[in-house]
Amino acid sequence: MTVAAAAQAAYIVAALLFILALAGLSKHETAKAGNAFGIAGMGVALAATIALAVTEKISGTGLILLLVATLIGAAIGLHRAGKVEMTGMPELIALLHSFVGLAAVLVGWNGYLHVEAEAGSPEARVLAAQGMLGIHSAEVVIGVFIGAVTFTGSIVAYLKLSARISSSPLVLPGKNVLNIGALAAFVLLTVWFVINPALWLLITVTALALLLGWHLVASIGGGDMPVVVSMLNSYSGWAAAAAGFLLENDLLIVTGALVGSSGAYLSYIMCKAMNRSFLSVIAGGFGIEAGPAGDRDYGEHREITAEGVADLLAEADSVVITPGYGMAVAQAQHGVAELTRVLRDRGVTVRFGIHPVAGRLPGHMNVLLAEARVPYDIVCEMDEINDDFAGTSVVLVIGANDTVNPAATDDPSSPIAGMPVLTVWEAEHVIVFKRSMASGYAGVQNPLFFRENCAMLFGDAKDRVDDILRAVTAATPAGTRH
Ligand code: NDP
Repeated sequence: MTVAAAAQAAYIVAALLFILALAGLSKHETAKAGNAFGIAGMGVALAATIALAVTEKISGTGLILLLVATLIGAAIGLHRAGKVEMTGMPELIALLHSFVGLAAVLVGWNGYLHVEAEAGSPEARVLAAQGMLGIHSAEVVIGVFIGAVTFTGSIVAYLKLSARISSSPLVLPGKNVLNIGALAAFVLLTVWFVINPALWLLITVTALALLLGWHLVASIGGGDMPVVVSMLNSYSGWAAAAAGFLLENDLLIVTGALVGSSGAYLSYIMCKAMNRSFLSVIAGGFGIEAGPAGDRDYGEHREITAEGVADLLAEADSVVITPGYGMAVAQAQHGVAELTRVLRDRGVTVRFGIHPVAGRLPGHMNVLLAEARVPYDIVCEMDEINDDFAGTSVVLVIGANDTVNPAATDDPSSPIAGMPVLTVWEAEHVIVFKRSMASGYAGVQNPLFFRENCAMLFGDAKDRVDDILRAVTAATPAGTRH
């Protein structure tokens, strides 16, 4: 068997491993195995690609460059992945998507420089003889376009998620016309480039796509960022597939299509969870206007001490904990798990209510609670728990804000209007753990904090949970209640 045939066989194995990885990642119980399949698939793919390059095309210098690039990339990847906090994951993912986009742009430009720009080159002559030159030009221009949109879009997402720029939506006059105009111009330029592959046309498409990617993501508001991350994931898949066509690499096409379609489907599911129209989000915040900045007067808020919360918990029959991004920042999950255990030992029903976009990435809260060994069966999805708040004694909102904002249901002018939220205000008492009266990620004020049955417990969530634990155990030693 030749190396080329062995590499093709390895590619099929790798593609199957990637499919198994996706299937595994869809459930808690099989997620670890899914990850292992993905790593194995990538290992097989890398080994086959390097073997192919070594035996077929590459020079000595090329091989050294390949090895050095692989080693540097692997070292940076290991270092970043080892260091990253769970809360920093979405921005790291956004940054990685930008690399995929940039790679697709470079592959496209490389294809142009080898074929269209050099009509006499062997590749160009082979393609011309097969009548495939036009197809090649279309692949170049489409790959560069998707790659460049992904590149700048991901950089803006990275900057927004890491709070280096404001997360509020950029609202340029006629932004929808600008987006649609850019897409129409791209179609025209593509046709033109296929007929006459001139350098200036490719430069124009690249610049147009870079601007479009930047504008698309800049005009999406903070509340819709989770969808943006998964949408860019999808774009990066299509960019990889486009590069696969140019490089005639079947595995890249298959993998790109898997990432592209699974990312698109995840975006669709998340849009449904946030009651957003899928098309409006991918079109760059279509129809989402920058809402009022929360300067309305909601009255006075009440404060409570950790001891006060402990007293409420001592009287409570049922407690629901709704964690959010602040619990992750404070790393309060272990204290929360301990408090849960103590309360359950005393006969209190404790459950968790998880909003689909709580935190900064899908599943963020589930991962933290699993890490702190909170039993799966008391961790409920929003739809499972929303009807039960009315019969709940105490809700502890730990570092969550947008996901428990009643304005989403009550105020049609709110930027988060229509987003399903945890209806915590229906409980008898609501305690909100946060450090100040500052707004959440979407940048909107939360009227919950001013409701009669709500009290604020200010400070770092971990410290406050520890204070409550101390107060609860001091007041009622285990087993003395009921
Ligand atoms: P929010 O960002 O709305 O609120 C988090 C709250 O935690 C803030 O009000 C903050 O208030 C508080 N907080 C921060 N640090 C601490 C701390 N150390 N101790 C106590 N409190 C703290 O979070 P939610 O989880 O409710 O909502 C998620 C938001 O993020 C949504 O808007 C969602 O769309 C968006 N998002 C979600 C993604 C996902 O995939 N899940 C991805 C990207 C964005 P203060 O500063 O006063 O302490």
